Formats: sequence, C-alpha cells, structure tokens
Amino acid sequence: VKNLALGIDIGGTNTAFGLVNQAGEILFEHNFRTSLFATPELLIEKIYIELSEKHLLESIVSIGVGAPNGNSLNGTIEYAPNLLWKGIIPIAKLFSEKFNLPCFLENDANAAALGEKKFGRAKNYSDFIVLTLGTGLGSGIFISNQLIVGKHGFAGEFGHIRYRNSDRKCKCGRVGCLETIASATGVKRSFALFAEQKNYSSSLYHPKMNGKVSAFKIFEAAEKNDPLALDIVNYTAQVLGEMIADFAAFSDPESFILFGGIAQSGDFFRSKVETAFKKNALKLYTDRVKIECSELNDKNAAVLGMAAVAFYRS
Ligand SMILES: [Zn+2]
Repeated sequence: VKNLALGIDIGGTNTAFGLVNQAGEILFEHNFRTSLFATPELLIEKIYIELSEKHLLESIVSIGVGAPNGNSLNGTIEYAPNLLWKGIIPIAKLFSEKFNLPCFLENDANAAALGEKKFGRAKNYSDFIVLTLGTGLGSGIFISNQLIVGKHGFAGEFGHIRYRNSDRKCKCGRVGCLETIASATGVKRSFALFAEQKNYSSSLYHPKMNGKVSAFKIFEAAEKNDPLALDIVNYTAQVLGEMIADFAAFSDPESFILFGGIAQSGDFFRSKVETAFKKNALKLYTDRVKIECSELNDKNAAVLGMAAVAFYRS
C-alpha cells in the first residue's frame, strides 16, 4: 500500500489516528487516552512505534493533525486548557521531524470542510460551508475551490456572529453569540430557560434523568414529540436557519453542510433548518442554496478530516 495520509485527532480526552487512502478508506485505526502521555514527544513516539511495528511507516506521504487551541499558520498548540501540555507546543514540527514527512495542523471545522470536499458530500462543490455543531459552533468555508483561512488564521468564527434577539452571555465575553443557542451547550441552556418559562409536561423531567439532560436526549425526545424538547429543537433550528440565511449573502454558497453533534439527528433537524432558511433568505438564494447533512461517518470524521488536510496541503 502506498500514498496514504496519516490523520491524527488530538482531543482533550482521546487521541485517534488512522491511515487513509485517496478513496477515504481507513486502513488502520487506533486510539488512546491523551492524558497517558506527559509530553507531546511521548505521544508522537507511541504512534510512530505502533505504525513502525505494523510496517506501515513507508506507506505514509503526509500527516494532518488536529488539536485544541491549534494555530494552523504556525503549526503550534497554544496554551490549551484541556491538555496536560502547557505553553506553546510546535506539534507539527515535532511530528514532521520524527516521521521525516510534511505535517500540517488544522482546526476541526476546516478539517471537516476538507474532509467533506475530499471524501463526502462536497466532492463536486466549489463553494460550500460546513457548520460543525458540537460543544460549540464552528464553520469551515470553501470558496472558489479554496479553503478560506483568513489573514490571521481565524476565518469562519460563525459561532460568534450574534443573533440580535438573544441576551445569552457567551464565553467570549460578548452577548448573543450564535453558539450560545445552536450547539450542544446552547441546547442545554435552552432546556434550562424553557423549563423555567412554561409548565411543560415532559419526559425530560423524569427522575431517571436526574437533571442530566444532554443535547442528544433532548433531540431524541423531540423526535418522539415531547413538547418541551420539540420547542427547544424548533427554536434552535429557527435561529440557525435565520443566521444561515444572512450568511448566504456574503459568499453565495452551493450548500451549507450540517456536521457532527446536534446535526446527527439527520433530516429531522435539517428540514427544520431548511424551512427557516427559506423563510428568511433573499429570494436569490432560497431555491439555489442547499441545506444538507454531512456524509462523513461521525465515528471516523475527525481522522478522515485530518487525512484530507494532509492530502490537501501537501
Ligand atoms: Zn461569543
């Protein structure tokens, strides 16, 4: 086997890595707890040895790596609060030197966009935007067949565009940011607020839930027509659809692709976002811009995205 990309996703909890071919098939995959490694060098050594023992090192042509607080322009992890490794870590350089291969660091939203372009829904698109609906909300923007990273590497902070009818405080210090509504965290905030405002009869109040209501549980309940859960999902979709409608005006994409976390309920959520989009977008866009779900299998999406980064950059 030849011409494989090594995709690595370093997370606060787990690190996953895999070897991916040009067709998007994962030929080898493994993961372990990130906190087992006191330094980045030890983690890199572990991956190197594993691939070496399986005689897979010679197949790799390029490496893509994702990490929290990653700066893609410098290839560094900078002061990541969720990692044991402190300060500024030149992670791309460390991988590159160990493997003697090019290595590229990228944030998860951009990797998702490149993954969708190389292996997923966006194969034939020149202009599209991937929205990553996880703990927060990120976006990867692809215009005229190019990933848009911006002058300082921070393009696509769609989660911090503000929704004017909201007074929710965001962890960035401002008020009304979209990710305080349209993200897993946002959905949980909606649960607390909605439950206060009205007397719902809802399965989410069940003692078994013990106050531990996840966004996943809320979406599950909404699909079963739980009135509280349904109000939350409808609100989330309506706000997201409205904001996408405005976002369409700046780049006229072919599609918005919903990815990860709360997008996983598939058409149930997507169709609601689409309805809100159509209601709010300029007529120029309503019948031209698609709202779609990601085609990347969520389990492997991070590794595929990082492999796509490796192929795209090298
Ligand atoms: Zn914000």
